[in-house]
Amino acid sequence: MIKKHKFCPKCGKTITKGIFCKNCSEPDFKFKDINIKICNSCNSYYHRNKWVKFRDINTVIKKVCADSIKAKVKIKKLSRIIHNKVSGHKAGIQTDLILEIIHKKVDYDIPSRLEVTLCNKCSLKYGQFFDSILQLRNCNDEILNFTRNEVKKHNKKGVFINKEVQLDKYSIKDIDLYLTNQSYAKTLADKIKKNFGGIIKKNAQHFSLNKQTTKVLYRLNILLTLPNYNKNDVIKHDNQLYKIISVGDRIKVENLKTKHKTSLMHNESYDILKPVIFQVIKRYPEYEVLDPTTYYQARLMNPTLKLEINQKIKVIIDGGEAWMV
Ligand SMILES: [Zn+2]
Ligand SMILES: [Zn+2]
Repeated sequence: MIKKHKFCPKCGKTITKGIFCKNCSEPDFKFKDINIKICNSCNSYYHRNKWVKFRDINTVIKKVCADSIKAKVKIKKLSRIIHNKVSGHKAGIQTDLILEIIHKKVDYDIPSRLEVTLCNKCSLKYGQFFDSILQLRNCNDEILNFTRNEVKKHNKKGVFINKEVQLDKYSIKDIDLYLTNQSYAKTLADKIKKNFGGIIKKNAQHFSLNKQTTKVLYRLNILLTLPNYNKNDVIKHDNQLYKIISVGDRIKVENLKTKHKTSLMHNESYDILKPVIFQVIKRYPEYEVLDPTTYYQARLMNPTLKLEINQKIKVIIDGGEAWMV
């Protein structure tokens, strides 16, 4: 006698119970994305904004699922092979992990995302770890401080600058920041660009092969070339002088002559006039200023009432004209 097998009506696969096979059955319960983040160096996992120690990855999965699945479910323990594989993953690995979940006696395969990283304590301990380099070009103090502060806000999540390399040791104009989290590095570059302008170029460079997973690990290089102009510089464009108020997706400017506020597109070929310090030497009949080192003189076009003789002021020089900025 031929034994009758049950089969899945959708794909034809042989099954022992239920109506559909595990792949074809749609879960009848709601669940959010299941993201598991662990540090294998000290066996801790990231849960509700802090790192918590664990003994068994299965308890971590239970805890994370309890937050994501709004139903009474049973979660099958990982097989020994997968269990060993997961605990062998090195920091930097992100992979999909299929969880077997039982709801009302039906088995479901539910996808989850596993991220292996270093917790904040371990990334301090293993300070040499980095998986991305943010290369800032045309950087300045304001941009660098902004960047360091942004990273500091994410220290708790294991994001650190582990190394800073200046291309010229006397200047921060071109600086490379070694970061511990690729996806954050991308967010950070976008945020700097949004505030200061610039052009982003990314490239991934493979740096090692994980033997357990045969997965190639990539180091991400993000090159952010910032504009060669900053706040308070003056752009000379169409014979007008525009003082830069702020730099973001566009450049917010104020026309020095008309005080009219407007915005300009980014353009690397603008004529940029940088502020310099001049001294007031004459008030009547016209204001005149002088560069104390070169004795270059210019007529001050927008004097304020309170200027005194010998007072030092910040100006930009456009031919024989000086404009206070
Ligand atoms: Zn099926
Ligand atoms: Zn750790």
